[in-house]
Amino acid sequence: MPASLRQHARRTLEELEAAGRRRRPVATGTGDGRLVARHGQELLDFSSNDYLGLARDPEVARAAERALAEHGTGGAASRLITGDHPPYAELEAELAALKGTEDAVVFGSGYLANLGILPALVDRHDLILADKLNHACLVDGARLSGARMIRYPHADVAALRARLERYRGRYRHCLLVTDGVFSMDGDLAPLAELSALAAEHDCWLMTDDAHGVGVLGGGAGSTAAARLSAEEVPLQMGTLSKAVGGYGGYLCAAREVADLIRTRARSFIYTTALPPATVAANTAALRRIRTDPALSRRPLELARRLAAGLGLPAPESPIVPVILGADRAALAAQEELAAAGYLVQAIRPPTVPEGTARLRVTLRAPHRESDVDALAGALAPWVRQTAAEAP
Ligand code: PMP
Repeated sequence: MPASLRQHARRTLEELEAAGRRRRPVATGTGDGRLVARHGQELLDFSSNDYLGLARDPEVARAAERALAEHGTGGAASRLITGDHPPYAELEAELAALKGTEDAVVFGSGYLANLGILPALVDRHDLILADKLNHACLVDGARLSGARMIRYPHADVAALRARLERYRGRYRHCLLVTDGVFSMDGDLAPLAELSALAAEHDCWLMTDDAHGVGVLGGGAGSTAAARLSAEEVPLQMGTLSKAVGGYGGYLCAAREVADLIRTRARSFIYTTALPPATVAANTAALRRIRTDPALSRRPLELARRLAAGLGLPAPESPIVPVILGADRAALAAQEELAAAGYLVQAIRPPTVPEGTARLRVTLRAPHRESDVDALAGALAPWVRQTAAEAP
Protein backbone atom coordinates (compact mmCIF):
# COMPACT_ATOMS: atom_id res chain seq x y z
CA MET A 1 0.00 0.00 0.00
CA PRO A 2 1.37 3.48 -0.81
CA ALA A 3 2.42 5.32 2.38
CA SER A 4 0.54 8.37 1.12
CA LEU A 5 -2.79 6.53 1.41
CA ARG A 6 -2.29 5.70 5.10
CA GLN A 7 -1.04 9.23 5.74
CA HIS A 8 -4.03 10.77 3.99
CA ALA A 9 -6.43 8.67 6.07
CA ARG A 10 -4.60 9.45 9.33
CA ARG A 11 -4.42 13.21 8.71
CA THR A 12 -8.04 13.47 7.69
CA LEU A 13 -9.11 11.53 10.79
CA GLU A 14 -6.97 13.82 12.98
CA GLU A 15 -8.60 16.89 11.45
CA LEU A 16 -12.05 15.45 12.02
CA GLU A 17 -11.14 14.51 15.60
CA ALA A 18 -9.85 18.04 16.28
CA ALA A 19 -13.10 19.48 14.89
CA GLY A 20 -15.10 17.09 17.10
CA ARG A 21 -16.56 15.49 13.97
CA ARG A 22 -15.08 12.01 14.00
CA ARG A 23 -17.82 9.38 13.97
CA ARG A 24 -17.73 6.13 15.91
CA PRO A 25 -20.29 3.43 16.70
CA VAL A 26 -21.96 4.24 20.00
CA ALA A 27 -23.84 1.24 21.37
CA THR A 28 -25.52 -2.05 20.51
CA GLY A 29 -29.01 -3.34 21.29
CA THR A 30 -29.60 -6.08 23.85
CA GLY A 31 -32.44 -7.96 25.53
CA ASP A 32 -36.01 -6.79 25.27
CA GLY A 33 -35.53 -3.79 22.98
CA ARG A 34 -35.49 -1.24 25.83
CA LEU A 35 -31.80 -1.45 26.60
CA VAL A 36 -28.50 -1.00 24.79
CA ALA A 37 -24.95 -1.80 25.84
CA ARG A 38 -22.39 1.01 25.76
CA HIS A 39 -18.86 0.61 27.10
CA GLY A 40 -20.03 -2.24 29.32
CA GLN A 41 -22.95 -0.24 30.75
CA GLU A 42 -26.65 -0.92 30.04
CA LEU A 43 -28.58 2.17 29.01
CA LEU A 44 -32.24 2.80 28.21
CA ASP A 45 -32.33 3.22 24.44
CA PHE A 46 -33.91 6.52 23.37
CA SER A 47 -31.94 6.65 20.11
CA SER A 48 -32.72 3.70 17.87
CA ASN A 49 -35.36 3.74 15.14
CA ASP A 50 -36.86 0.38 16.08
CA TYR A 51 -39.98 2.34 17.01
CA LEU A 52 -42.20 -0.68 17.62
CA GLY A 53 -39.66 -3.13 19.05
CA LEU A 54 -40.31 -5.43 16.07
CA ALA A 55 -36.58 -6.05 15.53
CA ARG A 56 -36.83 -8.34 18.56
CA ASP A 57 -40.35 -9.66 18.18
CA PRO A 58 -40.52 -13.48 18.56
CA GLU A 59 -43.28 -13.91 15.95
CA VAL A 60 -41.27 -11.91 13.39
CA ALA A 61 -38.15 -13.93 14.23
CA ARG A 62 -40.08 -17.18 13.64
CA ALA A 63 -41.11 -15.97 10.17
CA ALA A 64 -37.43 -15.30 9.43
CA GLU A 65 -36.43 -18.77 10.71
CA ARG A 66 -38.98 -20.49 8.48
CA ALA A 67 -37.72 -18.59 5.40
CA LEU A 68 -34.14 -19.33 6.39
CA ALA A 69 -34.86 -23.06 6.51
CA GLU A 70 -36.73 -22.97 3.23
CA HIS A 71 -34.72 -20.53 1.10
CA GLY A 72 -31.23 -20.39 2.65
CA THR A 73 -29.12 -17.52 3.92
CA GLY A 74 -28.30 -15.43 0.87
CA GLY A 75 -30.04 -13.65 -1.96
CA ALA A 76 -27.54 -15.34 -4.30
CA ALA A 77 -28.02 -12.94 -7.24
CA SER A 78 -29.83 -9.80 -8.26
CA ARG A 79 -33.63 -10.00 -8.26
CA LEU A 80 -33.62 -9.92 -12.04
CA ILE A 81 -31.41 -13.02 -12.21
CA THR A 82 -32.23 -15.67 -9.56
CA GLY A 83 -32.78 -13.59 -6.40
CA ASP A 84 -36.53 -13.01 -6.71
CA HIS A 85 -37.40 -15.52 -3.98
CA PRO A 86 -41.13 -16.16 -3.27
CA PRO A 87 -41.14 -14.05 -0.04
CA TYR A 88 -40.58 -10.93 -2.19
CA ALA A 89 -44.00 -11.15 -3.87
CA GLU A 90 -45.70 -11.40 -0.46
CA LEU A 91 -43.75 -8.44 0.87
CA GLU A 92 -44.54 -6.23 -2.12
CA ALA A 93 -48.23 -7.16 -1.93
CA GLU A 94 -48.28 -6.38 1.80
CA LEU A 95 -46.64 -2.98 1.24
CA ALA A 96 -49.05 -2.06 -1.57
CA ALA A 97 -52.01 -3.07 0.64
CA LEU A 98 -50.74 -0.98 3.56
CA LYS A 99 -50.25 2.10 1.40
CA GLY A 100 -53.27 1.62 -0.88
CA THR A 101 -51.17 1.59 -4.05
CA GLU A 102 -51.35 -0.73 -7.06
CA ASP A 103 -47.82 -2.02 -6.59
CA ALA A 104 -44.60 -1.80 -4.58
CA VAL A 105 -40.92 -2.39 -5.39
CA VAL A 106 -38.50 -3.52 -2.69
CA PHE A 107 -34.86 -2.42 -2.71
CA GLY A 108 -31.84 -3.48 -0.64
CA SER A 109 -32.23 -0.44 1.66
CA GLY A 110 -33.92 2.93 1.88
CA TYR A 111 -30.69 4.57 0.81
CA LEU A 112 -30.46 2.36 -2.26
CA ALA A 113 -34.12 3.04 -3.04
CA ASN A 114 -33.58 6.79 -3.25
CA LEU A 115 -30.34 6.39 -5.20
CA GLY A 116 -32.29 4.34 -7.75
CA ILE A 117 -35.75 5.92 -7.89
CA LEU A 118 -34.85 9.51 -8.69
CA PRO A 119 -32.49 8.78 -11.63
CA ALA A 120 -35.01 6.24 -12.99
CA LEU A 121 -37.71 8.92 -13.18
CA VAL A 122 -35.98 12.17 -14.11
CA ASP A 123 -32.90 13.36 -16.00
CA ARG A 124 -31.20 16.56 -17.14
CA HIS A 125 -34.34 17.78 -18.92
CA ASP A 126 -36.27 17.77 -15.65
CA LEU A 127 -36.62 19.72 -12.42
CA ILE A 128 -36.46 18.45 -8.85
CA LEU A 129 -37.87 20.65 -6.10
CA ALA A 130 -36.63 19.51 -2.72
CA ASP A 131 -37.18 20.58 0.90
CA LYS A 132 -33.97 22.01 2.36
CA LEU A 133 -34.04 19.45 5.21
CA ASN A 134 -34.59 16.34 3.08
CA HIS A 135 -32.59 13.26 4.02
CA ALA A 136 -29.10 12.91 2.55
CA CYS A 137 -30.06 9.98 0.29
CA LEU A 138 -32.73 12.06 -1.48
CA VAL A 139 -30.07 14.67 -2.13
CA ASP A 140 -27.66 12.02 -3.43
CA GLY A 141 -30.36 10.46 -5.64
CA ALA A 142 -31.23 13.88 -7.04
CA ARG A 143 -27.58 14.58 -7.83
CA LEU A 144 -27.18 11.23 -9.56
CA SER A 145 -30.22 11.90 -11.75
CA GLY A 146 -28.62 14.91 -13.44
CA ALA A 147 -31.90 16.86 -13.10
CA ARG A 148 -31.76 20.49 -11.99
CA MET A 149 -32.34 20.46 -8.23
CA ILE A 150 -33.72 23.53 -6.51
CA ARG A 151 -34.19 23.44 -2.76
CA TYR A 152 -36.89 25.42 -0.99
CA PRO A 153 -36.79 26.58 2.64
CA HIS A 154 -38.03 23.90 5.04
CA ALA A 155 -41.80 23.26 4.71
CA ASP A 156 -42.28 26.74 3.24
CA VAL A 157 -45.20 26.35 0.84
CA ALA A 158 -45.19 30.01 -0.29
CA ALA A 159 -41.48 29.81 -1.18
CA LEU A 160 -42.10 26.55 -3.05
CA ARG A 161 -44.97 28.14 -4.99
CA ALA A 162 -42.69 31.01 -6.03
CA ARG A 163 -40.08 28.57 -7.32
CA LEU A 164 -42.67 26.52 -9.18
CA GLU A 165 -44.03 29.62 -10.88
CA ARG A 166 -40.54 30.71 -11.82
CA TYR A 167 -39.04 27.41 -13.06
CA ARG A 168 -41.75 24.88 -13.88
CA GLY A 169 -42.26 25.96 -17.51
CA ARG A 170 -38.57 25.60 -18.31
CA TYR A 171 -38.42 21.86 -17.66
CA ARG A 172 -40.11 18.75 -19.06
CA HIS A 173 -41.15 16.99 -15.83
CA CYS A 174 -41.04 18.18 -12.25
CA LEU A 175 -40.51 15.94 -9.23
CA LEU A 176 -41.40 17.43 -5.85
CA VAL A 177 -39.63 15.47 -3.11
CA THR A 178 -39.98 15.73 0.64
CA ASP A 179 -39.46 13.69 3.77
CA GLY A 180 -42.87 12.76 5.22
CA VAL A 181 -41.43 13.01 8.74
CA PHE A 182 -38.21 15.00 9.02
CA SER A 183 -35.74 12.70 10.66
CA MET A 184 -33.85 15.20 12.82
CA ASP A 185 -36.75 17.47 13.79
CA GLY A 186 -39.67 15.08 13.91
CA ASP A 187 -42.05 17.51 12.20
CA LEU A 188 -44.28 16.54 9.26
CA ALA A 189 -44.25 17.85 5.70
CA PRO A 190 -47.33 19.97 4.84
CA LEU A 191 -48.53 17.20 2.52
CA ALA A 192 -52.03 18.53 1.86
CA GLU A 193 -50.64 21.83 0.57
CA LEU A 194 -47.81 20.13 -1.31
CA SER A 195 -50.18 17.76 -3.08
CA ALA A 196 -52.49 20.65 -4.08
CA LEU A 197 -49.52 22.60 -5.47
CA ALA A 198 -48.20 19.53 -7.25
CA ALA A 199 -51.59 18.96 -8.91
CA GLU A 200 -51.79 22.61 -9.97
CA HIS A 201 -48.36 22.54 -11.62
CA ASP A 202 -48.32 18.96 -12.94
CA CYS A 203 -45.54 17.87 -10.57
CA TRP A 204 -44.98 14.36 -9.31
CA LEU A 205 -45.08 14.34 -5.51
CA MET A 206 -42.73 11.88 -3.80
CA THR A 207 -42.43 11.31 -0.04
CA ASP A 208 -39.65 9.62 1.88
CA ASP A 209 -41.65 8.21 4.76
CA ALA A 210 -38.84 6.35 6.49
CA HIS A 211 -39.96 7.66 9.90
CA GLY A 212 -43.72 7.69 9.24
CA VAL A 213 -44.60 4.14 8.29
CA GLY A 214 -45.61 2.02 11.27
CA VAL A 215 -46.12 4.97 13.61
CA LEU A 216 -48.46 7.46 11.90
CA GLY A 217 -51.78 7.21 10.09
CA GLY A 218 -52.74 3.88 11.71
CA GLY A 219 -49.37 2.47 10.65
CA ALA A 220 -49.73 3.43 6.98
CA GLY A 221 -47.59 6.55 7.37
CA SER A 222 -47.72 10.27 6.78
CA THR A 223 -49.88 10.20 3.62
CA ALA A 224 -52.63 8.39 5.51
CA ALA A 225 -52.11 10.68 8.53
CA ALA A 226 -52.76 13.67 6.22
CA ARG A 227 -55.87 11.84 4.89
CA LEU A 228 -54.45 11.81 1.38
CA SER A 229 -54.69 9.03 -1.18
CA ALA A 230 -52.14 7.35 -3.43
CA GLU A 231 -53.57 9.49 -6.26
CA GLU A 232 -52.50 12.60 -4.38
CA VAL A 233 -49.11 11.26 -3.27
CA PRO A 234 -48.25 8.94 -6.16
CA LEU A 235 -44.66 8.10 -5.12
CA GLN A 236 -44.32 6.86 -1.54
CA MET A 237 -40.87 5.65 -0.64
CA GLY A 238 -39.81 4.25 2.72
CA THR A 239 -37.56 1.91 4.64
CA LEU A 240 -38.11 -1.43 6.36
CA SER A 241 -35.28 -0.78 8.80
CA LYS A 242 -37.03 1.46 11.32
CA ALA A 243 -40.58 0.78 12.62
CA VAL A 244 -40.69 -2.43 10.55
CA GLY A 245 -37.62 -3.62 12.45
CA GLY A 246 -35.93 -5.38 9.52
CA TYR A 247 -33.99 -4.15 6.52
CA GLY A 248 -34.72 -2.96 2.99
CA GLY A 249 -36.34 -0.01 1.23
CA TYR A 250 -39.32 0.35 -1.06
CA LEU A 251 -41.38 2.47 -3.39
CA CYS A 252 -45.18 2.18 -3.40
CA ALA A 253 -46.66 3.46 -6.65
CA ALA A 254 -48.88 2.71 -9.64
CA ARG A 255 -48.18 -0.48 -11.59
CA GLU A 256 -46.47 1.08 -14.61
CA VAL A 257 -44.32 3.29 -12.39
CA ALA A 258 -43.23 0.29 -10.31
CA ASP A 259 -42.44 -1.65 -13.49
CA LEU A 260 -40.41 1.23 -14.86
CA ILE A 261 -38.41 1.31 -11.61
CA ARG A 262 -37.77 -2.46 -11.81
CA THR A 263 -36.47 -2.03 -15.34
CA ARG A 264 -34.49 1.14 -14.87
CA ALA A 265 -33.31 1.77 -11.31
CA ARG A 266 -29.61 0.92 -11.23
CA SER A 267 -29.58 0.27 -7.48
CA PHE A 268 -32.34 -2.31 -8.03
CA ILE A 269 -30.73 -4.03 -11.00
CA TYR A 270 -27.05 -4.10 -10.12
CA THR A 271 -27.16 -5.37 -6.56
CA THR A 272 -27.88 -8.68 -4.87
CA ALA A 273 -31.38 -9.40 -3.57
CA LEU A 274 -31.95 -9.19 0.18
CA PRO A 275 -31.62 -12.44 2.14
CA PRO A 276 -35.01 -14.25 2.00
CA ALA A 277 -35.25 -14.42 5.81
CA THR A 278 -35.05 -10.64 5.99
CA VAL A 279 -37.75 -10.32 3.36
CA ALA A 280 -40.04 -12.70 5.26
CA ALA A 281 -39.40 -10.91 8.57
CA ASN A 282 -40.38 -7.61 6.96
CA THR A 283 -43.69 -9.11 5.80
CA ALA A 284 -44.49 -10.57 9.23
CA ALA A 285 -43.72 -7.20 10.88
CA LEU A 286 -45.93 -5.30 8.41
CA ARG A 287 -48.80 -7.74 9.10
CA ARG A 288 -48.38 -7.06 12.79
CA ILE A 289 -48.52 -3.31 12.13
CA ARG A 290 -51.69 -3.72 10.06
CA THR A 291 -53.45 -5.84 12.66
CA ASP A 292 -52.33 -4.15 15.89
CA PRO A 293 -53.29 -0.44 15.75
CA ALA A 294 -52.57 0.08 19.45
CA LEU A 295 -48.92 -0.88 18.84
CA SER A 296 -48.46 1.70 16.09
CA ARG A 297 -50.08 4.45 18.19
CA ARG A 298 -47.85 3.89 21.21
CA PRO A 299 -44.61 5.70 20.17
CA LEU A 300 -46.47 8.95 19.43
CA GLU A 301 -48.41 8.65 22.69
CA LEU A 302 -45.13 8.27 24.58
CA ALA A 303 -43.60 11.22 22.68
CA ARG A 304 -46.56 13.37 23.73
CA ARG A 305 -46.11 12.21 27.32
CA LEU A 306 -42.42 13.19 27.27
CA ALA A 307 -43.12 16.58 25.69
CA ALA A 308 -45.89 17.31 28.20
CA GLY A 309 -43.50 16.41 31.03
CA LEU A 310 -40.99 18.89 29.67
CA GLY A 311 -43.45 21.66 28.84
CA LEU A 312 -42.68 21.32 25.10
CA PRO A 313 -45.28 21.58 22.32
CA ALA A 314 -47.01 18.29 21.41
CA PRO A 315 -44.82 16.43 18.88
CA GLU A 316 -46.21 15.24 15.54
CA SER A 317 -44.06 12.08 15.45
CA PRO A 318 -42.09 9.89 17.90
CA ILE A 319 -38.96 12.02 17.30
CA VAL A 320 -38.44 14.78 19.88
CA PRO A 321 -35.46 17.07 19.30
CA VAL A 322 -33.90 19.15 22.08
CA ILE A 323 -31.86 21.76 20.24
CA LEU A 324 -28.83 22.90 22.22
CA GLY A 325 -26.89 24.89 19.58
CA ALA A 326 -23.18 24.28 20.09
CA ASP A 327 -21.70 20.86 19.28
CA ARG A 328 -20.02 20.82 22.69
CA ALA A 329 -23.29 21.37 24.55
CA ALA A 330 -24.95 18.48 22.70
CA LEU A 331 -22.03 16.15 23.44
CA ALA A 332 -21.92 17.19 27.10
CA ALA A 333 -25.66 16.52 27.41
CA GLN A 334 -25.26 13.12 25.74
CA GLU A 335 -22.53 12.13 28.20
CA GLU A 336 -24.42 13.40 31.24
CA LEU A 337 -27.52 11.47 30.20
CA ALA A 338 -25.44 8.33 29.58
CA ALA A 339 -24.01 8.63 33.09
CA ALA A 340 -27.61 8.75 34.35
CA GLY A 341 -28.54 5.61 32.36
CA TYR A 342 -30.00 6.94 29.09
CA LEU A 343 -28.75 6.67 25.53
CA VAL A 344 -29.84 9.87 23.80
CA GLN A 345 -27.76 10.56 20.76
CA ALA A 346 -26.19 13.97 20.11
CA ILE A 347 -26.63 14.98 16.47
CA ARG A 348 -24.17 17.48 15.06
CA PRO A 349 -23.40 19.16 11.73
CA PRO A 350 -23.21 18.23 8.90
CA THR A 351 -26.22 16.00 9.73
CA VAL A 352 -28.03 19.13 10.99
CA PRO A 353 -27.33 22.83 10.14
CA GLU A 354 -24.43 24.60 11.91
CA GLY A 355 -25.38 25.96 15.32
CA THR A 356 -28.30 23.54 15.77
CA ALA A 357 -26.58 20.57 17.41
CA ARG A 358 -29.16 18.69 19.39
CA LEU A 359 -30.26 15.69 21.35
CA ARG A 360 -32.56 13.54 19.26
CA VAL A 361 -34.92 11.49 21.42
CA THR A 362 -36.87 8.65 19.83
CA LEU A 363 -39.81 7.20 21.74
CA ARG A 364 -40.50 3.53 21.12
CA ALA A 365 -43.22 1.03 21.96
CA PRO A 366 -41.03 -1.09 24.29
CA HIS A 367 -40.51 1.89 26.64
CA ARG A 368 -42.53 1.91 29.83
CA GLU A 369 -44.33 5.04 30.94
CA SER A 370 -41.98 5.14 33.94
CA ASP A 371 -38.94 5.12 31.58
CA VAL A 372 -40.33 8.15 29.79
CA ASP A 373 -41.11 10.04 33.00
CA ALA A 374 -37.61 9.33 34.33
CA LEU A 375 -36.06 10.59 31.09
CA ALA A 376 -38.16 13.76 31.31
CA GLY A 377 -36.61 14.39 34.74
CA ALA A 378 -33.08 13.90 33.38
CA LEU A 379 -33.70 16.10 30.33
CA ALA A 380 -35.44 18.93 32.19
CA PRO A 381 -32.25 20.89 33.08
CA TRP A 382 -31.15 20.89 29.44
CA VAL A 383 -34.54 22.01 28.21
CA ARG A 384 -34.62 24.79 30.86
CA GLN A 385 -31.15 25.89 29.74
CA THR A 386 -32.23 26.23 26.08
CA ALA A 387 -35.36 28.12 27.12
CA ALA A 388 -33.24 30.54 29.21
CA GLU A 389 -30.86 31.14 26.30
CA ALA A 390 -33.58 31.58 23.66
CA PRO A 391 -33.63 35.13 22.22
N1 PMP B 1 -34.65 8.29 4.47
C1 PMP B 1 -34.67 8.77 5.72
C2 PMP B 1 -35.52 9.97 6.03
C3 PMP B 1 -33.90 8.15 6.71
O1 PMP B 1 -33.87 8.63 7.95
C4 PMP B 1 -33.12 7.03 6.37
C5 PMP B 1 -32.27 6.28 7.40
N2 PMP B 1 -31.42 7.01 8.12
C6 PMP B 1 -33.15 6.57 5.06
C7 PMP B 1 -33.93 7.22 4.14
C8 PMP B 1 -32.32 5.40 4.62
O2 PMP B 1 -32.95 4.21 4.95
P1 PMP B 1 -32.07 2.89 5.18
O3 PMP B 1 -31.55 2.98 6.57
O4 PMP B 1 -33.03 1.78 4.97
O5 PMP B 1 -30.99 2.91 4.14
